[in-house]
Amino acid sequence: MKLKDKKVLVVGNARSGIGAAKLAYQQGAKVCIYDGKPYEKWDASMKQMIDQMKASGVEYALGLEPDVAQFDLVILSPGVSPEIELVQKVKAKGIMVTGEFEFASWYCKAPIVAITGTNGKTTTTTLVGEMMKAFNPETYVVGNIGNAFSEAVEQIPESGIVVAEVSSFQLETANTFHPKVSALLNITPDHLNRHGTMENYCRAKYQIFANQAPNDFTILNTKDEYYEEAKVHVKGKLIEFSTTMVPTCGAYTSEGILYENIYGEAHEICTIEELKIKGTHNVENALAALAIGAAFGVPRKLMREVLVNFKGVEHRTEYVTTKKGVDFFNDSKATNTDAAIAGLVGLSSLNKPIRLIAGGMDKKISFTDWVKLFKGRVAKVYIIGETKMQIIDECEAVDYKDYETFDTLEQAIDKAYKESKSGECILLSPACASWDMFESYEQRGKIFKDFVNQLEG
Ligand code: ADP
Repeated sequence: MKLKDKKVLVVGNARSGIGAAKLAYQQGAKVCIYDGKPYEKWDASMKQMIDQMKASGVEYALGLEPDVAQFDLVILSPGVSPEIELVQKVKAKGIMVTGEFEFASWYCKAPIVAITGTNGKTTTTTLVGEMMKAFNPETYVVGNIGNAFSEAVEQIPESGIVVAEVSSFQLETANTFHPKVSALLNITPDHLNRHGTMENYCRAKYQIFANQAPNDFTILNTKDEYYEEAKVHVKGKLIEFSTTMVPTCGAYTSEGILYENIYGEAHEICTIEELKIKGTHNVENALAALAIGAAFGVPRKLMREVLVNFKGVEHRTEYVTTKKGVDFFNDSKATNTDAAIAGLVGLSSLNKPIRLIAGGMDKKISFTDWVKLFKGRVAKVYIIGETKMQIIDECEAVDYKDYETFDTLEQAIDKAYKESKSGECILLSPACASWDMFESYEQRGKIFKDFVNQLEG
């Protein structure tokens, strides 16, 4: 769609919405940003941003819905559900609606590597980003990871590479999005408050390869529950990764070694031991990155170097320090049960008793599968937050009695440290969102690390 002199409405005044507005404006459109929050309710830095945007020619409708009939195109921020009433009105008038990520992709000249999945997206995207940067310095890491694609896309040359973390929210509106390489890491229940059903959630995830052609690549995890179903939708060349079998074309582990056999011949890359990121889930992330790198033609020596040097991403089973022989790990990003299971099972491979700090905001997800894993792994669970009672009930249901509740994270850490012995580890892996006690999972993880670093020992 040529945007010159067209009227564009951007819904949502956060990072992605602002990026989309700037891009539409650069393309010659008349742009208005709508957000339900009135001007006076934004904080000082956001007010400054709004003022700057206005000064550069972008209009604003804050707290008051504009008449949608005047627009030629409506762009939704990823946080805005396509089900809202405003979108229904726009659609009824036959006006085109798209999402910020899809919109940005219209202007992308470089090949795209797109990564989605319920868990592991940021870790894998960061790792693939490092790999691609080593291969081609003109690599841009964008998307759900915190850099709006629309903000970056105009600077990306045809000779560059885009590595994009893509969420189900971004995929919901990605009608023409066409990555050269797409990877679906795993699917487990999450975000059902937005998608409604698993069927809708999976449909959004499969959109990542919906527009691929036979000479593109799709990367799937053979161990995933939805693998067979996902495979049916693949249009490009299928590359598999697996920790449990040897695929005919892909990346896999065998006897503690990571291999790649994309072009018919198996090549040893590194050992699991050599990886700095720990746990089976991280081996899966490394295999996905290896499959992506190999599909893209990154030399094996270079892939090996990046894989064995990658230290992981902050707040994802992140090693913090060791005090009096006790290792501390920050997995504050485990905001759902499956991520917490991955963190717990992953750390269990260290064969050290775990003192687990958990609990937080209630997302109405089940804790059963996670709590069932406590016996034999978790020396004690130190529970905080809104979900205290649910976690206690689940512990009681499986006759697990080693729990105690606390009002603050600091009290929980303090007690866990006092009760720990050398050779154990203390893991913050809440299985819950943070917003009942903290501003974000990042703040929760930072408070944990700061407090731990000040402990005696
Ligand atoms: P996302 O961006 O998809 O949320 P992250 O890489 O930020 O994924 O990791 C989020 C959480 O999920 C962390 O607690 C991490 O330990 C866990 N995790 C990472 N990779 C995987 C995986 N492949 N499978 C399951 N859990 C994972």
